[in-house]
Order: sequence, then C-alpha cells, then structure tokens
Amino acid sequence: MKIAINKAHFPVTVLGPGRRIGIWVQGCSIGCKGCVSQDTWSRDPGREMGVAQLLAWCRQTSASQLDGVTISGGEPFDQPQALAALLAGLAQWRSAEQLDFDILCYSGYALATLQKKHARLLAQLDALIPEPFVQARPLTQVWRGSANQPLVPLSERGRARYGAHVDALAQDADKRMQTMVDGDRVWYVGIPARGDMAALEASCAQRGLAFSQVSWRP
Ligand code: SF4
Repeated sequence: MKIAINKAHFPVTVLGPGRRIGIWVQGCSIGCKGCVSQDTWSRDPGREMGVAQLLAWCRQTSASQLDGVTISGGEPFDQPQALAALLAGLAQWRSAEQLDFDILCYSGYALATLQKKHARLLAQLDALIPEPFVQARPLTQVWRGSANQPLVPLSERGRARYGAHVDALAQDADKRMQTMVDGDRVWYVGIPARGDMAALEASCAQRGLAFSQVSWRP
C-alpha cells in the first residue's frame, strides 16, 4: 500500500501533547481559503511511498521514544485506504512494543461526514481535529487554526490525554511554532496566528532575505 506524503518529522512538539511524530500527507481536495499549507494540495504520485517504509522510518527515527503521532496534511481522509493501512501499522507497533503513544488526526471534513463515511478509521484514532479552516473565525484554542474546529477525544487514551485540552487556549501554550531548515527550504510546523506569516515575510525582507515560494498563498 502506498501513501502520498508531503513530509514527516520527529520530534514535533506543537501539534498535540509531548514529543510526537508528525506526518503530513500530500493532496487535499478541500481548499480552505487562507490555508497556510497550500504546498500539500496537489495530488502528486511522485510523493508516494510505501506505508511499510513510512512505519519503518517512524520506528527508527523515534527509537520508540514518543508520546504520540500527529497525522495532518493535506487531507488524510482523501487517502482512506492508505490511512487505514497506516493506522493499522501504528496500532500493531504500539501493541507489539507495549508503547502508549496516542494518535491524533486532523481533517478538513465535517465531523458528521467523517462519522458517517469513516467510522472505522475514527475507531483507530485517539483524537480528531475535524472541520475546515475558516479564516474569518479567530484562532482561540490550542492546536486549532480557527474557532469552529473542535478537539474530539475518541478513545479512553484520548479522553485521558486530551480531555484537559479540549477548551485550552492557544495563548496559554508554551510554544506554538517550530522551525526546521532543510537546504534552502525552511519549514514551519504549528498553527500560526493570523498575520504571523506576513509579519515573518516582512521581517525577513527587511533583513534582505526574500522567499522565492511560500506555502501560504498560491
Ligand atoms: S487547512 Fe487543511 S483541509 Fe483546509 S485546505 Fe489546508 S490542508 Fe486542506
């Protein structure tokens, strides 16, 4: 089974509790206005990799020392079979090594749609952040881009770990963004506040650094 991936990273500390593996899938058919990850929108067979290969990378990179896995994108539920294979592999790893990491997944689909169409996939998650990003709604709660997006614990582990964060405010989080440099590419991981990316671009321009391409506009 293949899965189209934009990137993966460990440790991610701004999208869920603790030190996490972050997996961003490639391809999103939703197209929320103001999305900061427009580089993940196109379907790109060149970005496919084997789910088994991705799971091997997860085991190796984290050395099984992780608190959770966050799956984002892109739209994970646009690849339901690949997502099912990834979730099954993560569950198998967790139980074989008696680990206790949680699995959090983002989606731009409505919660009701996911419950109706993908109940089996939801049953394999510990927590879900559904609903599209709405630029006109403020960023208020931790790990969410707009106020319409709930944090939904889905398992016993999810309720224990995420219950206290359901209404937690983003402004109270220790850290909201991570920066990674890869050659001449810079990645930002996390949920920027409104205007943050424009402010960053302006501040870099003032110092003579211009971005040739950015993910927050076409
Ligand atoms: S915010 Fe998420 S669901 Fe919306 S367009 Fe961007 S990647 Fe797709």
